[in-house]
Amino acid sequence: MRTGPATVCFDSGPIVTPVAVAPYDCAVSSVRARHPELVRLGDPPTIVGQRCRACDRTAFPPDPFGCERCGAEVDQLDEVELGATGSIHAVATVRRHHRPRPETPFTVATIVLDSGVSLKAVLDGDGSGAEVGDRVRGITVPCAVDDDGTEIVDLRFAVTGRESA
Ligand SMILES: [Zn+2]
Repeated sequence: MRTGPATVCFDSGPIVTPVAVAPYDCAVSSVRARHPELVRLGDPPTIVGQRCRACDRTAFPPDPFGCERCGAEVDQLDEVELGATGSIHAVATVRRHHRPRPETPFTVATIVLDSGVSLKAVLDGDGSGAEVGDRVRGITVPCAVDDDGTEIVDLRFAVTGRESA
């Protein structure tokens, strides 16, 4: 299903009802992203990518070794914030999975962000009914609470509309 230059799958944590950030209960003292180096909290969240100064390639996730296209050293790569909106390029529903989470069924999509960067992510809910071409928007959903009461949230994508054929 890989179709873009760089992909990542946010594949852990339960799938729950769509929320931007869950209402806090009294046990939760703060919120952080499961992968804070890749996702900044907000509504919508921001995806942290990388742009090559030598060839202008934008990548996600950031590559710690240099540019995959032109081979520029890592010091030629700048952090870039990517909007969390795009369209579904490919979609697959998982009905059997070797891990307990996400609970099955869940749906993984290859999403082409409006910036042109491609990534793989889990759709919100079970994702049933999602189709290639559907518009999606990043959201964060609670997936765990740390011992210190910090709620950990993970990135999911919610379908926001369907482009007419
Ligand atoms: Zn490059």
